[in-house]
Amino acid sequence: MDTQFLIDQKLVMLAYLFASVLFIFGIKGLTHPRTAVRGNMLGAMGMFVAAVVTLLAKGLDFKIILAGVCVGAAIGAIAALRVQMTGMPEMVAIFNGFGGIASVLVAGGAYLIALRGTSTLGAKAAALIGQGPELGAQMIVATAASGLIGAVTFTGSVIAWAKLAELKIIRGGQILFPGQRALNALVALGCVACVAWLVMDPTNPDAYWVLCGVASVLGVLLVIPIGGADMPVVIALLNSYSGLAAAATGFVLNNNVLIIAGSLVGASGIILTIIMCKAMNRSLTNVLFGVLGPNADGPSADDVYGGKVKSATPDEVALLFDSAQRVAIVPGYGLAVAQAQHAVRDLSNLLQSRGCEVEFGIHPVAGRMPGHMNVLLAEADIDYDQLKEMDEINPTLEQVDVALVIGANDVVNPVARTDPKSPIAGMPIIEVDKARTVVVVKRSLSPGFAGIPNPLFAADNTLMMFGDGKKAILELIAAIKES
Ligand code: NDP
Repeated sequence: MDTQFLIDQKLVMLAYLFASVLFIFGIKGLTHPRTAVRGNMLGAMGMFVAAVVTLLAKGLDFKIILAGVCVGAAIGAIAALRVQMTGMPEMVAIFNGFGGIASVLVAGGAYLIALRGTSTLGAKAAALIGQGPELGAQMIVATAASGLIGAVTFTGSVIAWAKLAELKIIRGGQILFPGQRALNALVALGCVACVAWLVMDPTNPDAYWVLCGVASVLGVLLVIPIGGADMPVVIALLNSYSGLAAAATGFVLNNNVLIIAGSLVGASGIILTIIMCKAMNRSLTNVLFGVLGPNADGPSADDVYGGKVKSATPDEVALLFDSAQRVAIVPGYGLAVAQAQHAVRDLSNLLQSRGCEVEFGIHPVAGRMPGHMNVLLAEADIDYDQLKEMDEINPTLEQVDVALVIGANDVVNPVARTDPKSPIAGMPIIEVDKARTVVVVKRSLSPGFAGIPNPLFAADNTLMMFGDGKKAILELIAAIKES
């Protein structure tokens, strides 16, 4: 097969540099909803440049590559078109898994080609795609890293996806059994032993495949004990792992753009994981090994709510908006469940048309995935200028006439400030309790993700408007129009 370089290597490096700059500007764009679409496009353009230049750099047989591109593009397009907003975490999870397995296979393929003298599979691959990088210390260490991290990412992500998709075999919850941590430690040691085997006996491909097998078991074991609702944090972490596996594969192939892209994904994934942990006031160890649940010593729902909760009908709540000058809307997970984002936009437009100032308070971990509320509100075309981050809206809440909480619970629970023993103690919250009047829209007094009662619902200045988020807001709009 033809292995000669078709493009000058200096030009290839220049194109890789250009692609890397596009990746960096792409990630920068993703930090704000207004620039997120442009950021996404820049990142995609960078990947396009990197892929085209890599494919054209050497003479290759494009038939199989084209078939792969068509199958991959079809799967990606169908998945992107069909996925519901609430299904995004599952899709991200499975795509991380694909990244992990791709690293395992590409690093394994390059390793087999380097072993072509001793491996028949490697000899066939070398005959098909030409000579690859030579077997050396860098290649062996990087191959071991790709196999280990890639396989953990693959099986861990498949389990995360199955939990989020609530597949029958796994049903969302945690799988716990006695001696679990000891078993995990044993399997992790097994991985270390396989890495040592591969490094000591680099010409034996069995060591690589056994390493991948043991790491796959580790991926399953690490993710099964984690509660379904903690999965988004784990997915951010697995995303980071998939980047690290890709960077390691870059070292296997001596490919600079893969090293850079993988490192960017690895670093941004870990930063996102830390941001989410901070916003939930939990350590990563606690997410990975701890169990979040109601504090046994904490007050019961009866203690908190008994005789103190006041409910109001949409007609009664509509009267509040007659004189309101400033309204803060705080959405939470229930907004996503009820798919109430369009109804909320209509309410916001109606209030603004009556001269009222309307802002949205966005908590970083409201919902079940990072940016969940931003995505939903953007889908409903709500003006970005109306979206205020927690730190921005909190100091202004005392001047708000009505704080309308829709399907949020933990992110507005004042016990985070007042009860140091609570599971959410210290978690920064949106301080709606400081507004003149608070209206909470939810179906019942059921707790949120943290499983604890919320004294906000029993506060003197709070009215509960019970009902499904979307239905309640539509009724409120009708009542405001009539009043
Ligand atoms: P919560 O989970 O605290 O509460 C959601 C509330 O929505 C529930 O109390 C529920 O009450 C209500 N609800 C559910 N369905 C509907 C509906 N159809 N209509 C109206 N209300 C509804 O949500 P928050 O957004 O306040 O907090 C998010 C929690 O998730 C935090 O504890 C956070 O730490 C955690 N988390 C967030 C992640 C993220 O990335 N965003 C990741 C992992 C965890 P009812 O049943 O009575 O209606």
